[in-house]
Amino acid sequence: MKRYTPLNYIGRNKPVWCAGCGDYGVLTALFNAFSQKEIDAKNVAIISGIGCSGRLPDFIKAYGFHGAHGRALPIAIGVKVANPSLNVFVVGGDGDGLSIGAGHFPHAARKNIDMTYILMDNSLFGMTKGQFSPTSPCKFESGSSPYGTLEEPMNPIVLSLIYGSTFVARGYSGPSKLNDLINLIREAMEHKGFSFIHVLSPCITYNRVVTFQSLNAQVVDIDEKHEITDRNEALALALREEKLSVGLFYKITKPTFNEKLVAMSEKCGKHGLDIEGLYTKFT
Ligand code: SF4
Repeated sequence: MKRYTPLNYIGRNKPVWCAGCGDYGVLTALFNAFSQKEIDAKNVAIISGIGCSGRLPDFIKAYGFHGAHGRALPIAIGVKVANPSLNVFVVGGDGDGLSIGAGHFPHAARKNIDMTYILMDNSLFGMTKGQFSPTSPCKFESGSSPYGTLEEPMNPIVLSLIYGSTFVARGYSGPSKLNDLINLIREAMEHKGFSFIHVLSPCITYNRVVTFQSLNAQVVDIDEKHEITDRNEALALALREEKLSVGLFYKITKPTFNEKLVAMSEKCGKHGLDIEGLYTKFT
């Protein structure tokens, strides 16, 4: 019987991230989650957009697609609908997913597509040298905001909860929480429906505000008594500003898009869907 180790999933291309980038933690967590699930790489598809984190599919042995900026979610929806047997992952940054790609997030969530979206949040655009992003803190000074940003940051957990995701979690790519991140990814893979993991993943090159040091002081585990099926409780937790809670915020079960699609096809079949007839009528 084949044994799976994290080494089985190392891709042909070596990571080109800056030494110490938080994204290494996410890649390591994926290698470990896949090996613990003993998943065959040929059953995994990883879709990304553009940005430092968007490079991840290049470094992992699985089917991968490096899509256009902000468009990873609709590509992944197509992959999952076309081949429901695949374990589909979307990886991407806060810039990619919450700026140009922000319009796709609610629709992937409300459809309850059975896939896992890992949003790797470094609170800036790393690949283009550190401009502020939708999750940069207010007053954040960067090349594109030399006197500080004026806006309040977006809260990805709150958005995901409101959009209707059926699994919402936050992880941290720092060494102290790597095992927890592996567990969250494993649990997300087991969840039937749209699972969203917001991963705090610092950029060590351009971000002098959101750093491993600052996050180490802010991150706290979610209390074991937290009721994961209560969306209001999850929202209240996500809105706590003084600390950043990590762990599982919310998890419920609902029919997935693919399940509804199968039911719909059966219904169409019962009413005698006649493709040949339709073709003749409209040609
Ligand atoms: S620029 Fe920042 S986000 Fe990009 S690879 Fe380097 S450390 Fe990571």
